[in-house]
Amino acid sequence: MLNFIIFGTPGAGKGTQAELIAKEYGLFHLSTGQALRQELESGELGSEIKQYVDQGILVPYELIVKMVNKAIAKNINCPGFIFDGYPRSLSQAEALQNFFEENDLHLDAVINLEIGEEEAKKRIILRGKTSGRSDDNPETISTRFHTYHEQTKPLLDYYQASKKIINIDGEPDIEAVAKNIDQEIEHIKKPLQ
Ligand code: ADP
Repeated sequence: MLNFIIFGTPGAGKGTQAELIAKEYGLFHLSTGQALRQELESGELGSEIKQYVDQGILVPYELIVKMVNKAIAKNINCPGFIFDGYPRSLSQAEALQNFFEENDLHLDAVINLEIGEEEAKKRIILRGKTSGRSDDNPETISTRFHTYHEQTKPLLDYYQASKKIINIDGEPDIEAVAKNIDQEIEHIKKPLQ
């Protein structure tokens, strides 16, 4: 099994790259943001979730961890997972670690997409014109970055301790970034073969 986390600020390109990696290696793309947006549209938890997403703050821990663990368990027979937008806090990272240990799973790498904040914000504003996402507006974007700095960025230290981080320049175009990620994954796969 190959298990990755894709990491980075809002607008770094996590969703785009995760989808490409998932396709190439047959992994299950688990995007908490996407799952939450689906719940917003159709699920019974919609009204509870909306206030958090619209503000740009983290949806409560219990709700997210339950949602993620259920999705992992449901897809446990696939060749691996790419986690996109999860974990987003230290407690979520610990929950994932526990789930992995309990289920004899292993994290292979954290792919950290590095991109300047101005470029990331530009991308989100551009995406906002067509995404229809209620959180792609200037005020919520600013809070999302604040949430990232306060709660998510510290995870880099957490994963650095286990030497699992791969830093990737997220500024080039989609194909170039994807190629660089691919090369790193091939390195990781080699010792497994
Ligand atoms: P982005 O990375 O561009 O901010 P996402 O789609 O990953 O976009 O997340 C959108 C919103 O969904 C977040 O601002 C947050 O409110 C909520 N969310 C997504 N993932 C999580 C998570 N792991 N824990 C708590 N809230 C989350």
